[in-house]
Amino acid sequence: MIDPKTIGEVIYTREDIKKRVEELGKQISEEYAGKEIILVCILKGSFAFTADLAREIDIPCSIEFMQVSSYSNGTTTSGSLKIIKDINVPVDGKHLLIIEDIIDTGITLNNLKKMFDTRNPASVKLCAFLDKPSRRQAPIEADYVGFTVEDNFLVGYGLDYAQHFRNLPYIAILKEEYYK
Ligand code: 5GP
Ligand code: MG
Ligand code: MG
Repeated sequence: MIDPKTIGEVIYTREDIKKRVEELGKQISEEYAGKEIILVCILKGSFAFTADLAREIDIPCSIEFMQVSSYSNGTTTSGSLKIIKDINVPVDGKHLLIIEDIIDTGITLNNLKKMFDTRNPASVKLCAFLDKPSRRQAPIEADYVGFTVEDNFLVGYGLDYAQHFRNLPYIAILKEEYYK
């Protein structure tokens, strides 16, 4: 049982999220008009965002799932990228949109983008629901960002702490005393 006292301030409500995801879907649909894209959902964190975003995109698209790991059970990055589950379709000549929950140090997306570039896609763009630019270590920017956030550890809408809180329908700050 999760102690609700561990959840601090809610920074984006269900309604805030819905509105922003609709805007992103519209923008992506317009910018890729006439093309077909592959949405690459990076598990587990972006499952909720991908499901909502995909339903706001009205151009032909397929959805693939990939699981990588660069974070342990805690709140700090471990550096290198480990592919736990790869997508199982060829991507040469395809337009890829990588969908992430949050860019923090940027190490994960930077490594992922390099890896996809070697598979000869027509294009690779990045879409992150949240962006924490103050913590960036790798030279990477998302092409589409839901919200730019400050340096707090966030949970909900797919984002976890030790596998919990992914089911919260909002984004909240996890209280520091809970993980420090
Ligand atoms: P990066 O490689 O950019 O440092 O790490 C990205 C990954 O770290 C995200 O996909 C996410 O799994 C995790 N992460 C980074 N910041 C947060 C945060 O504030 N909350 C949660 N729950 N995960 C985070
Ligand atoms: Mg992630
Ligand atoms: Mg995590």
